[in-house]
Amino acid sequence: MENGVVHDKIIIGGGAAGLMAAFSACSIRLDAGESPDVVLLERGEVPGKKLTATGNGKCNFTNKEQSAECYRGSDSDKAYRIINLFDSRKTIDLFKSIGILHRERNGYCYPYGEQAKTLRNALWTKVISLGAVIEPLKKVTGIEKLNGIFRISCEDGSVYQSKKVVISAGGAAAPVFGTDGSIFGLLENMGFNIVKPLPALCGLTSDFKYLKRIEGVRIKCNCTLYSKESSKPLYSEQGEIVFNKNGLSGIPVMNLSRFAIQELSWGNRPRLELDFFPDISKKDLKNYLFSLLNSTVVNVGDVLCSLINDKLLRVMFSQIDLKFDQSSVTYDVKTLGSELEKLVSLMKGMELNITGDTGFENAQATQGGVILKEINENTMESYKYPGMYLAGEVLDVDGMCGGYNLQWAWTTGYIAGRS
Ligand SMILES: Cc1cc2nc3c(=O)[nH]c(=O)nc-3n(C[C@H](O)[C@H](O)[C@H](O)COP(=O)(O)OP(=O)(O)OC[C@H]3O[C@@H](n4cnc5c(N)ncnc54)[C@H](O)[C@@H]3O)c2cc1C
Repeated sequence: MENGVVHDKIIIGGGAAGLMAAFSACSIRLDAGESPDVVLLERGEVPGKKLTATGNGKCNFTNKEQSAECYRGSDSDKAYRIINLFDSRKTIDLFKSIGILHRERNGYCYPYGEQAKTLRNALWTKVISLGAVIEPLKKVTGIEKLNGIFRISCEDGSVYQSKKVVISAGGAAAPVFGTDGSIFGLLENMGFNIVKPLPALCGLTSDFKYLKRIEGVRIKCNCTLYSKESSKPLYSEQGEIVFNKNGLSGIPVMNLSRFAIQELSWGNRPRLELDFFPDISKKDLKNYLFSLLNSTVVNVGDVLCSLINDKLLRVMFSQIDLKFDQSSVTYDVKTLGSELEKLVSLMKGMELNITGDTGFENAQATQGGVILKEINENTMESYKYPGMYLAGEVLDVDGMCGGYNLQWAWTTGYIAGRS
């Protein structure tokens, strides 16, 4: 116990949301002419370790294109209303005010120098200069409220007290950065309603028997996810995917992974349909390939390989039991004949069963967490525990790829800090 000291605000977890909460908590006190009494407890050696790894080390910290669909969870509308209280424009302005200019590509925003550590360092040093105290190597293991005061116990035996507390300890994704999900157990014991945490923004595994043959193939396509039992698409996105020996990844796969994982958790069997020619109708593609039959083209294999990756084409040939000349990658179009129809069907809709995911270790975000019904959307304050605020990935919101998870952390951290 720190000699009975009761702080104004203690922030648990020094990631994106926690650092932002410390920034806004200190700023509001200083604006009011008071000295801040803000302590940030971080279990790691330094705050913001995960931040330095974001966006492949470049930190895609927000996105100028925003909509409710970018924020998934049990209440996307509430999430989006919260985002609009401190939106991407305000975030960009705030970072500019602490020395981080941004660079934009198709709405995606990065620090101008495209180094994630510069953004983390700017926020970290700013927070310290505003008067926040950062306590590293403090893993919080217990929180209780007694007589209106929060008592926060750490793994090393230390105990802190405060009038207000911000929970910004992240989710369960990427445990290597200190987020092992243990915070959910702690919050559940306090009576919070929690949607079961599952991975989001990760790769998927499949039992597709030809995966080894197409390992490493990158290809643009339209990916549509179905619940195996239904013909109604759950999600569809166009972009580049990558096959690996166990399954597939790439931005569209990451974006749909949360829905596939949810289906699997319900005992359903999701499947992916890959359309490698999303801008050509099935009829046009079939007509074009049939026209080859009567053309002067000798080696249809060469023509087909100019349309689609040859390893994938060979797999399609195997699927319809057609022999494929491995050395010259050619095939006499005339012998393709009636099989052309089947080939076109595969080109416009190759199916893969989804059997699993690559786990929290390889996920960029967590789906699930404390439901938004637990918090006041204007302040992020818990209804159950007045004086306690929740921010970031610990809440039941997961963003799409493109800077949305960090935007959620900035927005909620900013509001929770000021409240
Ligand atoms: C590899 C990777 C790349 C990513 N790239 C992007 C990107 O480019 N754009 C984007 O928008 N999102 C990206 N994300 C997602 C984004 O980083 C997170 O959603 C975001 O950091 C969540 O912020 P947070 O503050 O809620 O949690 P975190 O940033 O995870 O921080 C939580 C902090 O709390 C600490 N902590 C945990 N438990 C305790 C405890 N009991 N006591 C004390 N401290 C504790 C942890 O050590 C950690 O420092 C990426 C994620 C990963 C893993």
